[in-house]
Amino acid sequence: MRRKIISKQSPRAKIPERTCVGCRRKRPKRELVRFVRASSGVVEIDLSGKKAGRGVYLCPSPGCWEMGLKKNRLDQALRTKISPEKWAQLAEFRFFLKDVGCDAG
Ligand SMILES: [Zn+2]
Repeated sequence: MRRKIISKQSPRAKIPERTCVGCRRKRPKRELVRFVRASSGVVEIDLSGKKAGRGVYLCPSPGCWEMGLKKNRLDQALRTKISPEKWAQLAEFRFFLKDVGCDAG
């Protein structure tokens, strides 16, 4: 007797995707770094992905962070002005992230 195995699992779970403001490519949300602008106007990196506020996403790649910084894309997307000091702080954080080698060019 052969028993039929019925799997209740869907073949592929839907992965939420977000667009990187650097290279404008879509990636699975969990591969991206979320920046959030809190109601106080402070921009922070949101590792939990759950902080309240306006959020934008960047690949953890140097090219994308540079784009976000130099082209003010992050500022625009968050509708705020990120100070150079704040940027230095945020940029420093990138070194802790795994480089995904995104070819932003
Ligand atoms: Zn990117």
